Amino acid sequence: MSFASLGLPTSILDAVTAKGYTTPSPIQMEAIPAVLAGRDVMAAAQTGTGKTAGFTLPILARLSEGKLARPNQARALVLTPTRELAAQVGESVATYGKNLPLRSTVVFGGVKINPQMMALRGGADIVVATPGRLLDLQRSMQIKLDKVQFLVVDEADRMLDLGFSDDLAEINQLTIQRQQTMMFSAT
Ligand code: AMP
Repeated sequence: MSFASLGLPTSILDAVTAKGYTTPSPIQMEAIPAVLAGRDVMAAAQTGTGKTAGFTLPILARLSEGKLARPNQARALVLTPTRELAAQVGESVATYGKNLPLRSTVVFGGVKINPQMMALRGGADIVVATPGRLLDLQRSMQIKLDKVQFLVVDEADRMLDLGFSDDLAEINQLTIQRQQTMMFSAT
């Protein structure tokens, strides 16, 4: 099976080809058509399986069909348990979305909040975030979550291990209007 047969637009296929991928991984073969079709996805997937592209590619495709984010808005939200993973996912989003007019940003704790506020000011089509810092930004009205259409919870099991369950419940409520949810867990 090829990436081209999964239903992704050319702008995204070009970025995948530039990255040197020729064949979708098993999780990508399952997740990409499902997300493009508007379905929720729950998958057991470890790091190294290609899960990041599995959710990022179809979300980029869906986002490229709608209106761009307005100031301080997010249209897709990817939650990760650690800042390292957030940074990594943010880089993947930038790489796979390089031919699209979408904006993405990464927010996590342990660093100054001001540059993150500045980055959110113009709006971001995809925000990759750790839960605590995201909620800080939401409470100070630097990010509005009521237009989020896609929510991804990456490494959901680790998120619970790290004590983020209350934060996740709150983010779930704040994005309850969303169209689709994707959950990935190693176990
Ligand atoms: P992930 O499981 O998302 O952390 O991805 C693991 C690694 O596999 C990353 O370095 C990706 O760049 C790479 N990768 C993802 N999808 C593919 C693919 N279809 N073919 C080859 N490499 C891939």
